Amino acid sequence: MPGRRIVIATRNCGKVNEIRGILGNLDVEVLSLNDFPDIESPDETGSSFEENAVIKASHAAQASGLLSVADDSGLEVDALGGLPGVRSARFAGEGASDEENNRKLVGMMEGVPADKRTARFRCCIAACVPDGPVETVTGTCEGLISFEPRGSGGFGYDPLFVIREDGRTFAEISVERKNRLSHRGNALRAIQPVLVRMLDMAPTAGG
Ligand code: IMP
Repeated sequence: MPGRRIVIATRNCGKVNEIRGILGNLDVEVLSLNDFPDIESPDETGSSFEENAVIKASHAAQASGLLSVADDSGLEVDALGGLPGVRSARFAGEGASDEENNRKLVGMMEGVPADKRTARFRCCIAACVPDGPVETVTGTCEGLISFEPRGSGGFGYDPLFVIREDGRTFAEISVERKNRLSHRGNALRAIQPVLVRMLDMAPTAGG
């Protein structure tokens, strides 16, 4: 249907492309906050991935007047009581690099035996119509934290995350395989039917 538009509530081009790829069959124009330079990003003050995804999606929906989608994701390590969790991006401090975060994680996992190194990536996606309902879905991917980084692909904690059924890290596999297995891929596939339903409630103009 012409004129149907969705806003992805991020300015991260890598994330927009990944989401565009998976939502490509919906026959909608996929915009991002890069198309709305005046919309400011809200503070991510939630204590869970779901709360943060809802904050971002609701804010973008109100500000753009369009159906908006936001994701929030991170790594949960069982031996660390679920850390780094919502602090994944800034585990080693505000503005920390991926390498610094990974070094901190390897250090905190020192002495933890192989069978106790279980972890999962979690991704929550929220979809919100302006002045309408918010719906959320969650995708996970189970794995183990390796003793040292392996592989050069991906980003974030990928070199330390060993996929349970594969034995390789996320940094050692192709983007296509990662999308098939990953928390974000699983969540994006789950949100598709929700978006199809919500597109019928959403205004098509705006911005
Ligand atoms: P975001 O909220 O999706 O931007 O992700 C927050 C943080 O979680 C990122 O900065 C990464 O450290 C980590 N993270 C989320 N998804 C992945 C992934 O697929 N691979 C590696 N790290 C990830």
